[in-house]
Amino acid sequence: MIKQFVAESACLECRGCCRFQKQESAWSPCLLEEEMLELADRPGIPAVNISIEKKIIPIPDIGNKSFVCPFLNLEDNKCKIYATRPFECQLYPFLIAFRDKKILLTIDLNCPYVAEKANSQEFKDYVQYLTDFLNSPQQLKVLKDNPQILQAYEEVLDVVELQDPHEIK
Ligand code: SF4
Repeated sequence: MIKQFVAESACLECRGCCRFQKQESAWSPCLLEEEMLELADRPGIPAVNISIEKKIIPIPDIGNKSFVCPFLNLEDNKCKIYATRPFECQLYPFLIAFRDKKILLTIDLNCPYVAEKANSQEFKDYVQYLTDFLNSPQQLKVLKDNPQILQAYEEVLDVVELQDPHEIK
């Protein structure tokens, strides 16, 4: 599990995460190969038709143009698979973007917590932790094997350039 930047209390109060503007976009939660296989087999979780081809959690339209992850419990605002949620969900509000042939660690400023702290020492320390983690040989291999995680996100703030997983042998 990735150490979290956003305090749990802030996360539960905010009703921004896990909701999307469309059914499918770069923001749809992507799954690593092993997460996809594991989620498809795991008993006791809500039945969700994982898109094997696209490696994403399909986002249903729940009416009124609201697109919500099927794993989100709207009553308590908690993820039903929180303890084992996908890598990409653990990363958020940080995102790994592939743009202009660069792999970038970025943040989504729609997250009010990270937007407020983006100039703090706490943020700088966390970026250092995350950069070291993502640049480790083990994580570079994960990214190399799962290019679906690298999306060309728009309207994010670039924080630091990461090592390119395509360059590892
Ligand atoms: S899997 Fe959980 S954390 Fe990820 S988008 Fe869905 S509800 Fe949110």
